[in-house]
This record gives sequence, C-alpha cells and structure tokens, in this order.
Amino acid sequence: MNKEAQIAVVGAGPAGSTAAETAAKRGAEVVLIERKSEIGTPVQCGGFLPEAHELQALIPRARLPQTLQEMPERCILRRTRLQRIISPSGKAKEFSVDGRVLDRRAFDRFLAHRAARAGARILPATRASLVEGSLWLSGRFPGSIRPNVIIGADGPSSTVSRAMGNRVGEQGICLEYEMVDVDIDPDAAEMYFSARYAPGGYAWIIPLGQDIANVGVGVRRPYLGGQRLPDLLDSFVKEHPVASNKLGHGEILAVMRGLVPAGGSPQEVQLGNMLLAGDAAGHVMATSGGGIPLAVVAGRIAGEIAAGQVQGELMLHEYKLRIAKEFGTELNRSVQIRKIVDMAMHSDRLMDALLAALSPDQVKSVMRAQIPAALAQFASSRN
Ligand SMILES: Cc1cc2nc3c(=O)[nH]c(=O)nc-3n(C[C@H](O)[C@H](O)[C@H](O)COP(=O)(O)OP(=O)(O)OC[C@H]3O[C@@H](n4cnc5c(N)ncnc54)[C@H](O)[C@@H]3O)c2cc1C
Repeated sequence: MNKEAQIAVVGAGPAGSTAAETAAKRGAEVVLIERKSEIGTPVQCGGFLPEAHELQALIPRARLPQTLQEMPERCILRRTRLQRIISPSGKAKEFSVDGRVLDRRAFDRFLAHRAARAGARILPATRASLVEGSLWLSGRFPGSIRPNVIIGADGPSSTVSRAMGNRVGEQGICLEYEMVDVDIDPDAAEMYFSARYAPGGYAWIIPLGQDIANVGVGVRRPYLGGQRLPDLLDSFVKEHPVASNKLGHGEILAVMRGLVPAGGSPQEVQLGNMLLAGDAAGHVMATSGGGIPLAVVAGRIAGEIAAGQVQGELMLHEYKLRIAKEFGTELNRSVQIRKIVDMAMHSDRLMDALLAALSPDQVKSVMRAQIPAALAQFASSRN
C-alpha cells in the first residue's frame, strides 16, 4: 500500500487532527497516523473547555480555529457557568467562567472527520516510530514513509519529541473516575487543593450532567512520597470533608489514567523536518492542566507552517516564532505561576493563607495566567 505523503502527522488527538486538516486544506498530501483502533477511545481527559470568549481572554493573541468556537452539540455534554476553587480547609472561592464539558470521544472524532474530509489519509490502529528520519509503521497499516515534514502530535509521551533529543519534562500523573449518582453542582467545575488528597496538584469535579461527573486527581511524583494514586482518589471520594458529601454514595462507571505536561515546552519544538504540537510540545496551561485549547491552536499553526514549507512559501523554523507570538507569553507565565504556587503545595496552612489572600477575581486572573499583586507578594515573601 502506498502511503507516500508530503506531511505525516503522528497522533490523531486535537493537535494532530487539526494540523492534518489545516495542511490538507492548503493542498498538501497528508497522512494522519493513530495507534488507537478507534480515534478518541479510550478517553483520557476531564473534557473541560472554556467557551470561545473565555479562551480569547486566556490567550488574546491566538487566532482561535473555528472548531474551538463552534462544534456540533453532540460534542458537548454540559455547559457550566462557574469555576469554584476549594482550599485545604474547605473554604470556596467561586467566579464566573462559561465552560463546555466535551464528550472527548465525539470531539476527537469530529476533528478527525474534518481532517479526512479535507483530504488527509487516516491510518488508525497504526503505531509510528522514527528510524533515521523515516517513520516505521506497525499495526493495521504497516510499512515505512519518508515525508518532507513530520508533525509530532503524539501526546505527553511523544516518540517524535524523544527522537528530537528532548528529555521528558515535568508531568502531572492523573487518575480519573466517571461517576454517576453523585450530588454535585451541575453548573460548576471545581478544583480542590490539598496536600493530603492531591499532593503537588489538585483534585477536580467536572459535571457531565445533573448527577454524573468526571472526578479526578492530578499530582506530581516528587510530592507523592510512597502514596498510590488510586488510594488518593478513593480517599478524596470517600473522606474529603467537602467532596465526600457529594461523591461518597456515587458509583464508578469508568477509570481513566493519563499524564499531563506541567513544565511548558521542551528544549526543541522544531528540529530538522520535525515539529511538535499539543501535549508533545508541552502546550498545556500549567495553572490548570488544560491542554485542549493550546493543542488545537498549535495544531493549526503546525499545519499552516508544514503546508507552507512543502509549498516553498514558509520555513519550518518560523513555527517556534508563531507559537511564541500566539500563546508563548501565557504558556510561560502559567509555568511561572505554577512554580509560585508550588511554594505552598507542601503545606495546607500556606495554601489556605495564599487562597485567603486572593479575591475571587484575582483567583480568576491567576487561572488566566496573570499574576496579581497578592501572588507576587506571596512569591517575594517566600524568597
Ligand atoms: C486525566 C486527564 C484529564 C484532563 N482534563 C482536561 C480538561 O478537562 N481540559 C483540558 O483542556 N485538558 C485536559 N487534559 C489534557 C488534555 O487531555 C490534553 O492536553 C489534550 O488531549 C492534548 O491533545 P493532543 O492532541 O496534544 O494529545 P492527545 O490527545 O494525547 O493525542 C495524542 C494521540 O497520539 C497518539 N499516539 C501517541 N503515540 C503514537 C504513536 N507512536 N503512533 C501513533 N499514534 C500515537 C495517541 O494514541 C493519541 O491519540 C486532561 C488530561 C488528563 C490525562
């Protein structure tokens, strides 16, 4: 089977499908390689995506692809209007954020359908590995290809990133349950900070319906000690003074695991004929672990640059500059904020004090990767 292509995209998540659609629409021959048998399954995500106007405030210089603005209703399980932050001692700060909770399976398939309709060739159930500049494919569509451009959109454990010589950066490790028969606030996405239940990260409740939610915990290894992630999540569900009242009687329908980059971009996001986009490039807001918006924006930029390169109009090294221009400031600041908040992560007393010092509006601006004076003061008092 001839799989020749000018551009090969590894990974059909939000970054890869968007890159493939963008490049194919510009007339390039594109192949999109995905190791999963069914694109979008299994889901490894909470599914929370702010509405387009919130995204515009979060990353004001980014050109948001249409797919972040409008999508079929079947991709949206729930709309939320609040974000609530719960301190270790159980005090809540809430502020308005219009959000969508995605059916990630439907959303990823929607994006892959668009890539296919734009002319990209899709190879599901096929794993790609890089050997001396060629992509070796195993699984349903085996063989090898040597494309002009390789876009690594292959998630947090990216093969393409490793081939570029990048080291694995800081990561959050996450475990999530889909739970039913829970007594949640269906209008609010909640984040719980606690050194006991979510060391070095946070726990979350994201409503999928009136009594259904994604409930998860994301932590970082250096904070874990000898604790196991399943024990932490079970304690959160059964024992957390606030969350257990909502979740304690619920039933678990699904268990999901995954990694989230937490340290920004690696050394190289472009090297030779390779580009990285989305989680593979550390394009995740370190303040929230949210990576869907940046993955789609970076996928669009990667697709444009790759198509421009094969058509002789653009150079691949422009990719890094375009990323920096559209969301580099916010991405870097989110990592900076995470490092400040880390100073309080090991102590519930400090985290309580930090959250008490911030008004709800200031917490909202922190989530938008802005640094209010109270946070800067906290940082300088700890230095
Ligand atoms: C538990 C959890 C909850 C999360 N919740 C949220 C949330 O609520 N909101 C939010 O915005 N973000 C959330 N995230 C982060 C979000 O899921 C990612 O940032 C987003 O999926 C990144 O998209 P991507 O296309 O870069 O990578 P991915 O969605 O990871 O897609 C990469 C694809 O590459 C494929 N692949 C990998 N290696 C190969 C290979 N060698 N060959 C072929 N295919 C390969 C994988 O199978 C995968 O389909 C969460 C993450 C986790 C783990």
